[in-house]
Amino acid sequence: MSDEKREIEKIKEIFEREFEGLSGSVKSKFEGLGLSALEKLQKELNELRVKHTGKKSPLSGAKKLIGKVAPDQRAEFGKFVQSVGKTIENKIEDAEASLKSRIQKAKLEREKIDVTIPGRRPRPGHLHPITLLRQKIEDIFVSMGYAIEDDREIETDYYNFDALNIPENHPARESQDTFYTTDGFALRSQTSTVQIRAMERRGVPLRVIAPGRVFRRDTPDQTHTPMFHQIEGLCVDKGITMAHLKGTVSEWLRRMYGKETKTRFRPSYFPFTEPSAEFDFSCFKCDGTGEFERGKCGTCRGSGWIELGGCGMVHPNVLKNCGVDHKEYSGFAFGFGLERMCALMYSLDDIRLMFENDVRFLEQFR
Ligand SMILES: [Zn+2]
Repeated sequence: MSDEKREIEKIKEIFEREFEGLSGSVKSKFEGLGLSALEKLQKELNELRVKHTGKKSPLSGAKKLIGKVAPDQRAEFGKFVQSVGKTIENKIEDAEASLKSRIQKAKLEREKIDVTIPGRRPRPGHLHPITLLRQKIEDIFVSMGYAIEDDREIETDYYNFDALNIPENHPARESQDTFYTTDGFALRSQTSTVQIRAMERRGVPLRVIAPGRVFRRDTPDQTHTPMFHQIEGLCVDKGITMAHLKGTVSEWLRRMYGKETKTRFRPSYFPFTEPSAEFDFSCFKCDGTGEFERGKCGTCRGSGWIELGGCGMVHPNVLKNCGVDHKEYSGFAFGFGLERMCALMYSLDDIRLMFENDVRFLEQFR
């Protein structure tokens, strides 16, 4: 009997040692432990329970010894085994219960939402300077009765060149000037393509402006980028003359830069207009004097004028291409770049700044 009893004592001793050693923290009631550490302890405790009270545990084996003990000592020995088993069971259960409540508390702690903490406010963005300028111009033209047109940026040669009366041998058609897709479509090199699309779709009479991106094979430098923004204007009706063109462009620039703004037109050439002109307006910085703060005005380089865009009376061939009777209808068109205008307004010496997405630059237009 004493041998068997010693066996059971040994089992109890091993359990006590392992239970104590359970990360050394069962007894200290798991104070200050994080959720993941507590969960790890729970796992260890489960393993300990299986090891010491499971079917294959030494205690379970010891219970089988009860029957082998001499009958007069069997009851006493049985009680002893049971009490050791109970001790082991109780210790594990106590530890488990307090561990469980600790885990629950830790979980609640983690999920607790402090509604008094101020939220993380997303930093508000703002519109790009080009967009701001475009919207301002759109507003003016809409108030003058123009509709806003938008159309595709990838065009066929027909819309980008032929319909606009740009002849086969014109240098603009060369691949060194225009981007082509591998299947032969052109990235539009001017927003004039929208003139054709708008006349085809809306018919005449019509008044539209078409803001949009255009693409040219230019090496980027201070005044060139391969992609830039243009606004195209088109007005077709019966009896439209050059006077209407001059009046419209002048009125727009007055609304843009102030009542005193003067406009001038210089003869020029474009395949899609005849006659054609380039238009300038009096410098807004020096009021057209060419002088600013007792020196040469930097914005107009002392000339008093700012060159802005091209314009002209829509070429009869362009009207014909769109199925418009050029004997009955006439029209004018104009176009200009937004980047240049933006650079002049904000005295930028490099238009690439507008596409570099440098927040320090863009934030200034807030
Ligand atoms: Zn000036």
